[in-house]
Amino acid sequence: MSTDTSNCIFCRIIHNQAPAKIVYQDPLVTAFNDIHPVAPVHILIVPKKHISSINEIQPEDEQLIGHLFTVAKVIAAQLKIADSGYRCIINTGPDSGQAVFHLHLHLIGGQRVRFPMG
Ligand code: AMP
Ligand code: ZN
Repeated sequence: MSTDTSNCIFCRIIHNQAPAKIVYQDPLVTAFNDIHPVAPVHILIVPKKHISSINEIQPEDEQLIGHLFTVAKVIAAQLKIADSGYRCIINTGPDSGQAVFHLHLHLIGGQRVRFPMG
């Protein structure tokens, strides 16, 4: 998998080189609204480090990957969907339909979500 980040849309958003509605940032993570939401809440939680997919996660990334879920919890509470519930999805590779090869956690909620998504 390519590690060239110059054409990565999520790297460009992280570095303010492409537009996005950013809802959360910290030193490790940027989160922004999905451009094609499948539910009232559809946020992508993205590590600032370019990791193409779960297949490219390294042992030293474990804390970062865990942090994605802590951020999901924080955003869900901020948006008041912690109790109504939400779905977290990470797509990996062709059979999942992964379209952007910069690892990201979909946070989807605000309505009862159907299987597999939306
Ligand atoms: P995935 O199939 O997991 O790779 O999902 C990629 C997601 O990124 C899709 O839900 C797209 O709607 C979303 N997406 C693609 N480009 C952008 C963008 N420029 N800003 C926000 N979301 C985007
Ligand atoms: Zn990237």
